[in-house]
This record gives sequence, structure tokens and C-alpha cells, in this order.
Amino acid sequence: MRRELEQKLVEKYPQLFQDYRKDPMYPMYYGIECGDGWYDLIDKTLARIQQEIDAYPEKDRNRFKLFQVKEKFGSLRVYMSETVGEMNKAVNDAYTESLVTCVWCGSQEGVTQNEHSFVRSMCPQCSVEYAKNGWELNGEF
Ligand SMILES: [Zn+2]
Repeated sequence: MRRELEQKLVEKYPQLFQDYRKDPMYPMYYGIECGDGWYDLIDKTLARIQQEIDAYPEKDRNRFKLFQVKEKFGSLRVYMSETVGEMNKAVNDAYTESLVTCVWCGSQEGVTQNEHSFVRSMCPQCSVEYAKNGWELNGEF
């Protein structure tokens, strides 16, 4: 994901991104590892998770943080230090919706899992571009 988009999420959810760019031993150091097309989906998912966290007393909130957010086998994976109740549902919904959301442009029209080099959820147009030019076009993931 482009750095400026990622930065918007970091500023919006400081609680969740407390390990962001802190320690290269942990995945959160490297930020969000997927295409820009999933920005809205991730934003929506983190909002749901944050809402759950906010229901806890302030002293108990810090234990909930993102461990890793990445694309894997054409789907969005959100891994947290700990998830309970509705947080699990938000994470599972994100996975399901990512399979019908183009990882490059966010379109939900005709998205399928292509297998040019490895599996990636894409709309027909992006899939053609991807086949022609490879992932470099969308960079950074
Ligand atoms: Zn697309």
C-alpha cells in the first residue's frame, strides 16, 4: 500500500498501529502489505475493531494491537495480538469481502482470483494490466 494511504490509517487508529515502524523483528514494522484497492475495506474493518476496543476501560485497551495486515492467497489477512467477540467477526468479514474486492482499484465488478504468478483478487481490467505489466505498476506490496 502506498505510504500516504497507510499513513492515514496510522493516524486514524494509533491504538492499533502502536507497533508500526517500531521493530524490524515484527511484521508491523513494514506496514500494510497489500494493494491500495483494499484501503476502504481495511479502514472499515479497523473502525469496527476500534469500536470494540473502546468498550474496554482505558487501562485494558493497549493489549489490542495489529500484528500484521497483508495479502495472502488473494485475500486480506488481519492478524492481531488478541481478538475477542466482534473483532473476530470483523476480521473474518474482511477476509470474505477481500475475495470480491479488486486489490488494485477497489472495484467489486467481476472480481476473480487470477493466477498469473500467484493468486490475486482482481477485477477484469486490472487483471489484464497485471498480466501485461506485472505488479510493479501498483508497487510497494
Ligand atoms: Zn481493479
